[in-house]
Amino acid sequence: MSHTPPAATITLALSKGRIFDEIMPLLAAAGIEVLEDPEKSRKLILPTNRPEVRVVLVRASDVPTYVQYGGADMGVCGKDTLIEHSAEWGGAARSGLYLPLDLQIAKCRVSVAVRTDFDYAQAVKKGSRLKVATKYTAIAREFFASKGVHVDLIKLYGSMELAPLTGMADAIVDLVSTGNTLKANHLMEVERIMDISSHLVVNQAALKLKMAPLRRIIDAFAATVAANTSAALP
Ligand code: AMP
Repeated sequence: MSHTPPAATITLALSKGRIFDEIMPLLAAAGIEVLEDPEKSRKLILPTNRPEVRVVLVRASDVPTYVQYGGADMGVCGKDTLIEHSAEWGGAARSGLYLPLDLQIAKCRVSVAVRTDFDYAQAVKKGSRLKVATKYTAIAREFFASKGVHVDLIKLYGSMELAPLTGMADAIVDLVSTGNTLKANHLMEVERIMDISSHLVVNQAALKLKMAPLRRIIDAFAATVAANTSAALP
């Protein structure tokens, strides 16, 4: 059976978890309701109440790739993922991605963390060469270069917290939200590199071919983000 959709279908790439949960109200405001719960279903393509709109479930780090190669018309992913993806491609525009909107969801930060018994400030002051484990090599490289700190980056794909605990690295660069994961692993945040939120990412060619339906979704999201932002103002 072929899963190639009719030409007018809009495919939205999402990852399970926080992004999926937090995008639901924005989708609802755009009149789109996902008809299956990804935590209960094993399906990777989920229907919505709108016959022309479907959701594909992919790993967060694969969202830009699906959108770039046209596996999805649009997607939602963190700024961290976008920076790492565009570093591989020499910029978002060169990968054919259009980033129209900061959705202001799944907020967290990228930080440097070390073991609580590691004197990070002293190591930096002494000009020590630091071993840094991270999934976010582009962000980490740029950050330490801007500080003039020499680092050996160790690329990991998960459980970064383990690296300092096993002595493999002096520090990690990872996403931090509440800080509970760091605390549970006897690590502490020593630098806040950047704030992160999720962005809408759109395939530029799809935007030309399916301008009206994609614009309607982008505009509905934008209106909700603007309303949420002004409601949050003091
Ligand atoms: P926390 O314990 O709340 O600081 O969360 C930290 C853990 O959750 C780390 O393993 C992060 O990789 C992950 N995390 C936190 N916020 C996000 C987010 N917005 N998107 C994806 N992963 C996140």
